Amino acid sequence: MNREEPQPQKPRRARWWFLLGVCVVAAGAFFGVMAGNGISPRQMWSRLRSGDTPKLSLELPRAARPKHMSRPYGMAPIAFEAYVRACTNAGIHPFRIGQTIGDHPRSVGYHKRDGVLNIRGEKIDYCAAVDLGAFELTEEQRRRFLHHLTKQGFASWYRSGEKWRGAEHIHAIYALLPMKPQLEEQVREFMRERRDKGIKPLRWERFTKRRLD
Ligand SMILES: [Zn+2]
Repeated sequence: MNREEPQPQKPRRARWWFLLGVCVVAAGAFFGVMAGNGISPRQMWSRLRSGDTPKLSLELPRAARPKHMSRPYGMAPIAFEAYVRACTNAGIHPFRIGQTIGDHPRSVGYHKRDGVLNIRGEKIDYCAAVDLGAFELTEEQRRRFLHHLTKQGFASWYRSGEKWRGAEHIHAIYALLPMKPQLEEQVREFMRERRDKGIKPLRWERFTKRRLD
């Protein structure tokens, strides 16, 4: 075998085409960002030359955005947003939503659909209650999580003990949605328990109390 044999080289022309391609893509991205920020290429160019570059925000098209987490079926948008806020504030990972609308035998009807929201023409089925996995949370994390869920408008309990052995979870009800009487009764119970402990009611509790009384 002849080791001196030269490797075949890329033709020079192909390299030029490649470079031209890179330039076109870079220019496209550059002008795309500027257009997205409402700045004309001429304005941008003069600002770049003067060293006064504006702060640009890069808004990606919807399909290109990373899918961090999307609202699951059966959860109202307002409840989902409140839930994500509670997770963020508690420092708890949000990927733990189990049953929303459902008919699990252990839920005995509590998770059946509460209603349909019509948001900008989109019909959204929802249940005000949601079950959240909590297996890996420490007691302290769980306490913090429940605290922040409450602050965001959820009546919530950690289901544990003999009855829930092997299926421990957090049952949370977003109190500011219309719901079935079974859930309303749980929300009342939640607020009663807090009142009995001498905890000052939150704004959503005062509002909900007036609504449910
Ligand atoms: Zn539940």
